[in-house]
Amino acid sequence: DNYYDIIIVGGGPIGLACALEASLNNKTYLILEKGCLVNSLYNYPQNMTFFSSSDRLEIGDIPFVTTLPKPKRAEALEYYRRIQQKFKLNTRLFEEVTEIRKDHHLFKINTIKNTYSSKNVIIATGFYDIPTLLNIPGEELEKVKHYYQDPHYYANQKVIVVGASNSSIDAALETYRKGADVTLVIRGKEISSRVKYWVKPDIENRIASGEIRVLYNSKLKEITDSHAHVHTPTGDIILENDFVLALTGYQPNFNFLKKIGINIPSESPCLPEHDPDSMETNIDGLYLAGVVCGGLNTHLWFIENSRIHAKQILADIKKKEMRE
Ligand code: FAD
Repeated sequence: DNYYDIIIVGGGPIGLACALEASLNNKTYLILEKGCLVNSLYNYPQNMTFFSSSDRLEIGDIPFVTTLPKPKRAEALEYYRRIQQKFKLNTRLFEEVTEIRKDHHLFKINTIKNTYSSKNVIIATGFYDIPTLLNIPGEELEKVKHYYQDPHYYANQKVIVVGASNSSIDAALETYRKGADVTLVIRGKEISSRVKYWVKPDIENRIASGEIRVLYNSKLKEITDSHAHVHTPTGDIILENDFVLALTGYQPNFNFLKKIGINIPSESPCLPEHDPDSMETNIDGLYLAGVVCGGLNTHLWFIENSRIHAKQILADIKKKEMRE
């Protein structure tokens, strides 16, 4: 029988937090994850260091132990995997949810492999699956990447990094240190103030010494196999170029959310409709959890302030049951 009290879509940190809370409340539940466990974190840059300290990434009050001031991606993978395994959190991996419909008070959930039904659904699908595109000619070339993994690949290559936030600055510094010739193309007039406080002086010093080139108030206009055209305040320039790392942010899968029936206003930041106390959407029994709640404002929620959604949702589910 494929019925559960709660179906959780997304096996990220917040999906896991919801599963822990469901199990604590003796609810039957299933996590459906389209990729591997904590798929977004798995696809982060290999050597990434979190901006949060490890206690702020904890779920279910389970200590996240590290000897480093801020944990690394590999440690977070270890932490969340150990939780899933230790508590035997009911999870099906590599099983993408394609459709959710409500039918006579029950949800029907279709995945690429199965059909399930449930009384409640929690959408914890994050925002890391859809990159924000540059929308310029040449973006479709193989040399243009929207995800960055490992710096070695870019050794001795002419690399343009687009963006001024953490992802871009980390990639610029790492590839520079493996011998890439790096140019940062930044839309605004400065490095983002959100850049990790211990990384900011590093990038500023590399720029001041000319080791990393930077073009402020500039935009890529076109990318070809061998070059990149950049619009700068002093005129357009053409740079020789091997790779473009366009790390210009990501956004939730709005089409998926709309298809389910969640109301989403057309104006930015396109916050999917939900009650901030219960986390319930405009559809009865359908909840949002984690960073997906922020719409285009992907800086609004992170693990520290969204892990609480798990408790809010379970409290609402229990409250409704008392009323029945
Ligand atoms: P996610 O971790 O993104 O999980 C969503 C999951 O849903 C994914 O595994 C995805 O594969 C799955 N999914 C999506 N669609 C479907 C579908 N249709 N069917 C089935 N599964 C689906 N936050 C912090 O708090 N501290 C940090 O230091 C930090 N550093 C970050 C660094 C980077 C490079 C990035 C990109 C983000 C960082 N964040 C950080 C934000 C971080 O992504 C989130 O806080 C965290 O991943 C949110 O967890 P989540 O469970 O809401 O979403």
